[in-house]
Amino acid sequence: MLGYEDFKKIYDMLDNATPFVHDCAASLNCSEACCKVPEDYDHDMGMYMLPGEDVMHDLEDDWLNWRIAAYNEHDLPKEWKDRDDPIYVVMCCGPESCKRELRPIQCRTFPLTPYMDEDGALHIVKYPGHLPYTCPLITENISVDKRFVELVYEAWSILVADEMIRQMVVHDSRFLHPKEYLI
Ligand code: SF4
Ligand code: SF4
Repeated sequence: MLGYEDFKKIYDMLDNATPFVHDCAASLNCSEACCKVPEDYDHDMGMYMLPGEDVMHDLEDDWLNWRIAAYNEHDLPKEWKDRDDPIYVVMCCGPESCKRELRPIQCRTFPLTPYMDEDGALHIVKYPGHLPYTCPLITENISVDKRFVELVYEAWSILVADEMIRQMVVHDSRFLHPKEYLI
């Protein structure tokens, strides 16, 4: 499993990286949609911490709510079925209380996501699945900054060297049907 130094490197790498040349929330007037639960959405909106990523966090810190994802209640890779180490789902309290320097990797790379093709090659795509909110970078097909795409690819290349993270990306990729690879 990746350790603190690996995750620190990736957090640093993506700390100031943004998908749009300017602040996308302000420039595209999306009201920070990806950081808020839509008013008419009556489900929790959480995200998975990557296996091992909790090493970057104090689980008592109250800006994130932590939950352990039970294998039988979540759609997780079959290889994880008998593992004892916890897989965490976190829910944040929104942009007002976000500790931006500690935001999870899933926040740092959105709206991009890794996609592993049938030959095991890693690609970076705009998230092609269902979302309960609208991200204009996806719905209006606005170009994502090329440097950001490269950094996200570099980060995921490090991450998928870890067996569990690779299993997760392979598992999730089978539910995604991207129209285009950015890398
Ligand atoms: S942790 Fe921060 S960056 Fe991530 S969704 Fe919440 S408010 Fe947004
Ligand atoms: S990633 Fe999309 S939804 Fe999130 S702030 Fe940028 S434009 Fe808005």
